[in-house]
Amino acid sequence: MQCIISKGFHRIPSHRTWARRSLATLANPLPIARDPYWQNIKIWRNVKEEDFLSYRWQIANTVQGAPNLFKFLENVLPETIPHRGNVQGHERIQSREDFIVDVMEGIKLAPMSTRLTPHILSQIDWTKNPLLDPLRRQFIPMKSSILPDHPSLSLDSLHETEDSAVPGLVHRYPHKALFLATSVCPIYCRFCTRSYSVGGETDSVKKSRFLPTRKRWEKVFEYIDNTPTLHDIVISGGDAYYLEPEHIWEIGKRLLSIPHILRIRYASKGLAVCPSRVLDDTDSWIYALNKVTELGRNEGKTVAWHTHFNHPNEITWITRLAARKLFQRGVTVRNQSTLLRGVNDDVPTMKRLIYDLADNNIQPYYVYQGDMVRGVEDLRTPLKTIIELEEQIRGTIAGFLMPQFVVDLPGGGGKRLACSYESYDRKTGVSKFIAPGVKDGNRIFEYHDPLWSLSG
Ligand code: SF4
Repeated sequence: MQCIISKGFHRIPSHRTWARRSLATLANPLPIARDPYWQNIKIWRNVKEEDFLSYRWQIANTVQGAPNLFKFLENVLPETIPHRGNVQGHERIQSREDFIVDVMEGIKLAPMSTRLTPHILSQIDWTKNPLLDPLRRQFIPMKSSILPDHPSLSLDSLHETEDSAVPGLVHRYPHKALFLATSVCPIYCRFCTRSYSVGGETDSVKKSRFLPTRKRWEKVFEYIDNTPTLHDIVISGGDAYYLEPEHIWEIGKRLLSIPHILRIRYASKGLAVCPSRVLDDTDSWIYALNKVTELGRNEGKTVAWHTHFNHPNEITWITRLAARKLFQRGVTVRNQSTLLRGVNDDVPTMKRLIYDLADNNIQPYYVYQGDMVRGVEDLRTPLKTIIELEEQIRGTIAGFLMPQFVVDLPGGGGKRLACSYESYDRKTGVSKFIAPGVKDGNRIFEYHDPLWSLSG
């Protein structure tokens, strides 16, 4: 085969031409259509675009706590609840009141407290499909769907507390540590791995909170300083969106100043649940992230944003503009999804999510098997689902855009490819893994499929 470059098909442009061209491309990107999707919600019918885009407006209109959700639901739900298919437990939910009572009872049993951003609330199909909507399922519990916990699951299923070197620093992998800088998030997900710590107290869980205090952080920095084998730090929580901009800068600067720290990542679901903040030029969080990214680049170190989209409906034109802005500013964004029953556990939805992320320059990095945590058995899938999804999707997208389909092993074995089990008994639903790079190679880690998925 002849090299097309040597044949002169592609002349390398001069550096000056290249710089001019790339600036022109950035200045005139493909147009993105803007629709005021929040105006589908009666109470936000008159909210103008500039208000919806403001982070202050988003915070002021975030729905937090059961009484506020009650009021919101009274406003958005139709009098008669539409049904799609025959879902067990849903037959007794016929009216708006039935739905609200079911949610309020679900909240009493849930390990996570309630907080939802206007962006997510606007993307739920309240009129035609409130019972099965994939976003509603992720964030709002309903008593009628809750299933008994599997006998082998636990609140801190990944044993993060056990693997913590100092409070709020999980050091499990040889070269990487997880810094839990806060316990607060812009939204609370029902299936949160860290329900032992994140969010307000609930009727069923007393939380071990990680407060964003300098005194606590100093102990974390001291440990990282004194552990030269560490090269990677994930700054998480909770969610880095709820750290003050000066905290983003301070933490980033401090970590990048440690010679052996070569890569840092801020973990935030913010881009998925409140993307307008990225576009809000009056907000300094994104400015702080940009400054840390620049600082890292100047020092030859990587700074990235790890975010968390689970369903394509979470992506709107605001998300696309925000992702484009981050891309143009040189911020690397990667996505970590959680596989959830009735949300993204079918091939077309998972494919659509992966493609959509890729098209917006968000690297589809991980798809996690749902963790064995309390109160979300209705959302967990058996291991075979993630294996089948991986089989079907691999080969349909470029290899570098193919996420890793993984299980974060209960007991602290770390992430392993879901298909890399030592054994998987599909009758009992028990899969066994080893994690020689993380823990003693003879130790077996078990993942248990949810009981609803076992036959007989
Ligand atoms: S945003 Fe992340 S940390 Fe916060 S509740 Fe959701 S899964 Fe948990």
